[in-house]
Amino acid sequence: MNAPVVVVGSGLAGLVAARSITGPCLLVTPGRLTQGAASMLAQGGIAAAVGPDDSVELHAHDTWIAGDRAGDPEMIARVTGAGPGTMEELRSVGVAFDTTPTGELDLHLEAGHSRRRIAHVRDTSGAAITSAVARAVAKGPVEVLEHTQVVDLLVESAGHDDTADGNTTGRVTGVLIEDASGRRAIDAAAVVLATGGHGGLWHHATSSPHAVGAGVAMAARAGVRTDDLHLMQFHPTALDAGGTGPMPLLTEALRGAGAVLLADGRRFVDELRPRDQVAAAVWEQLQAGRRVHLDARGVERVVEHFPQVNDLCRQVGLEPSRDLLPTRPAAHYAMGGITVDRRERTSLPGLWAVGEVARTGLHGANRLASNSLLEAFVTGRDAASDIACWIRDERARSGQGWSEVPSADPATVVARGPGSIMDLTEVQETLEAGCGVLRDASGIRATIERLAPMVASDDAAYVAWLVAHAALDHRNSRGAHRRVDDPSLATKGATA
Ligand SMILES: Cc1cc2nc3c(=O)[nH]c(=O)nc-3n(C[C@H](O)[C@H](O)[C@H](O)COP(=O)(O)OP(=O)(O)OC[C@H]3O[C@@H](n4cnc5c(N)ncnc54)[C@H](O)[C@@H]3O)c2cc1C
Repeated sequence: MNAPVVVVGSGLAGLVAARSITGPCLLVTPGRLTQGAASMLAQGGIAAAVGPDDSVELHAHDTWIAGDRAGDPEMIARVTGAGPGTMEELRSVGVAFDTTPTGELDLHLEAGHSRRRIAHVRDTSGAAITSAVARAVAKGPVEVLEHTQVVDLLVESAGHDDTADGNTTGRVTGVLIEDASGRRAIDAAAVVLATGGHGGLWHHATSSPHAVGAGVAMAARAGVRTDDLHLMQFHPTALDAGGTGPMPLLTEALRGAGAVLLADGRRFVDELRPRDQVAAAVWEQLQAGRRVHLDARGVERVVEHFPQVNDLCRQVGLEPSRDLLPTRPAAHYAMGGITVDRRERTSLPGLWAVGEVARTGLHGANRLASNSLLEAFVTGRDAASDIACWIRDERARSGQGWSEVPSADPATVVARGPGSIMDLTEVQETLEAGCGVLRDASGIRATIERLAPMVASDDAAYVAWLVAHAALDHRNSRGAHRRVDDPSLATKGATA
């Protein structure tokens, strides 16, 4: 029997990839289908240029500007161009986006968007979209392996010694999985990593504590190229009301609907500037000892339009229609990850990466709000069609001209050693201390030194160490990477 294409992860990117694969497909996921996926948490919605005053070109322009002009224009054009079609495909699997009383799509405004273009299902958009695609997957031919995680990639070497520089050769032949009965190898015709982001490596994060970059760790250990790991987007308005686990999010759509930020009662920033700027402004206020709140009391019908926000607030005794909501920045979205080319191919033959785990070039140095569900959909779907071509084309499978992605930097490849330290709290505190909203070389170096003894045995520490190395290598501030020891940041102002 033909080995299946193995898709790793059941967030939106993995589900769309699995659903679009032609031929045998195995979807591996650590819990039940969709459990633990950031896709299920998305509140705001999905960006698409479908409004009467909007265009794909405007959406692309806003994406480019929010990304601090560091994105890949071709990728930006491809993803934003796919927005309207993606909306149709989502409707066809049963996503019922909110509409206005006159029957048009009810489009929200979010920071960095010059038009109202966020399609949503109240403020539970991610769950509505992801569950609809999951239902379609469950009805189809995809074999789903729940309560199982992938712990490593199986790589067949090229059989000649060109690995001395640490670069990847050979190809992926399968994955090593782990479930309650232990570990076993599974052959794969191709592997798609859709393991999501690594925001859970920071102490204050909106992501699940399981989002620690498992895909980045296994790829990087196999010598696969990663880039831009220093670019973590901090969401400016996580609800700071104590508690453990992921911080509840106060969606940006609240600010789009008129909520304002107050530091000791006074406004201090244009709330609809791109996220990196608002997060830095909030951080500066907190560092100055002021208390920062989101004031959503003026938002019309806040309870009805933002039921999830209302529930999250009520759980800690707050009412958005009555109370000021204590707020702080929290790690939220990874712009960097496994580098892919325009077909979602990584530097290792047989391995694709889609969704947040991939560094596609869409987001540049700062993601435009609500662009990531769209990216997850488009990259998942397109990787599947590329895999179909690749499997058909024996010549391509030899690895010749496989990918446009250059080799990994050998200095970043650390093979797995014995032991398994797993002190996530230490990793989170260390990374947050040295690689938070504002960073400098001495803090980053201290982070690298503290993590170094753990990198061979602990995947979370390894990814955090890679993040810190990338932060040290990038001396200039750009987008979400704000080096306070970079003189140009002082000129611009940390919050510029
Ligand atoms: C609170 C919150 C709100 C957000 N709001 C929005 C929004 O409004 N709009 C928007 O566009 N984006 C939003 N985002 C970002 C967006 O949700 C994510 O970027 C996107 O959903 C990522 O999809 P994904 O499929 O790549 O990853 P995920 O949805 O995170 O899925 C990853 C999957 O991989 C699995 N996995 C991980 N490791 C392994 C392993 N070793 N083996 C097997 N499986 C593994 C996980 O269990 C999970 O199933 C938000 C994010 C958060 C955290």
